[in-house]
Amino acid sequence: MNENQQILNEIFLRNKVKGKYKFDYNLSKHSWFGVGGNAEIFYIPSSFDELQLVLTAKAEDIDVSVIGLGSNIIIRDGGIAGLVIRLGNEFSNIYHDKNMVFAGAAVQDKILSKYCLKNSIIGFEFYSGIPGSVGGATCMNAGCFGSETKDIFIKAKCLSNQGEPIEMNYSEELFSYRKNNFLDKHIVCEVQFNKEIGDPLIINKRIVEINDQRKETQPQKVMTAGSTFKNPFDRSELKAWQLIDKAGLREYELNGVSFSEKHANFIVNRQKDSANLIEDFGENIKKEVKSRLGIELEWEIKILGNR
Ligand SMILES: Cc1cc2nc3c(=O)[nH]c(=O)nc-3n(C[C@H](O)[C@H](O)[C@H](O)COP(=O)(O)OP(=O)(O)OC[C@H]3O[C@@H](n4cnc5c(N)ncnc54)[C@H](O)[C@@H]3O)c2cc1C
Repeated sequence: MNENQQILNEIFLRNKVKGKYKFDYNLSKHSWFGVGGNAEIFYIPSSFDELQLVLTAKAEDIDVSVIGLGSNIIIRDGGIAGLVIRLGNEFSNIYHDKNMVFAGAAVQDKILSKYCLKNSIIGFEFYSGIPGSVGGATCMNAGCFGSETKDIFIKAKCLSNQGEPIEMNYSEELFSYRKNNFLDKHIVCEVQFNKEIGDPLIINKRIVEINDQRKETQPQKVMTAGSTFKNPFDRSELKAWQLIDKAGLREYELNGVSFSEKHANFIVNRQKDSANLIEDFGENIKKEVKSRLGIELEWEIKILGNR
């Protein structure tokens, strides 16, 4: 065990932590790409209080990262230094009161969408097609087919990397396209959403439409992380996939990494050797689009860890 691992091990033992923790734990199964390096310290907290205690006790210079369901990340082959947190069952409650829907950060977007359908709550239909968690959606302002997380978000209960409780309230500036402008060194633990009652038949119809459209336009059952690059709307009228297509890069392949035949902005990974290769593929695409069309693409996928 190295020094950081010893520090955390002592904190876990001293506080009789009930959560799960592992050292030098391979994260490949926590990324939809199925590849990636190790977490120096991997921790699934058993409660909000326990997570707060661990974060407060750890030395400030130990890095903290959080992963959700891994549907929007590349975890580099060199792994992630410090403490890597993944929220589990203890952060998976959903309930509602008169005005709001409450969801733990580990709740799957699809499950939240189903819950809302069951309770005739409108506005969560778009979540039926997003394979991430509520925490990931809050970090990414996840959205599709004209709706985004910011449309239903009220506030989130968070912890800073040092264990301070922080409430993140909705404001105009909080979210932008596929981005949360506040979330940096914070862990989202629970989110409160707007509750509006609607007609379950209309809600269900919208869910069916979204899922039909998705099946038609996106690859299914492959190792991908959704849209690779953001649509550069401020620089081009074309979407990222259209720019890739126009630059003649749709068929580009790098040792088992290529774009989906169905969607030229979805990377499909067909190899098991390296996450860095996926990053290299994306960087090559960025470079070529810039040199052929003069437009800079920006990663939508989050790249975590060391090369
Ligand atoms: C097939 C497919 C289709 C997709 N379609 C869409 C789509 O239509 N629209 C869309 O927006 N996205 C889409 N995505 C991308 C992805 O599903 C979303 O971005 C999703 O919100 C990511 O959630 P996650 O739990 O998987 O987060 P992860 O991928 O694990 O993490 C993403 C980011 O969120 C952060 N994060 C995760 N949990 C927390 C937390 N509790 N607190 C703080 N930060 C946290 C991570 O640090 C990381 O920076 C798609 C992905 C796939 C594979």
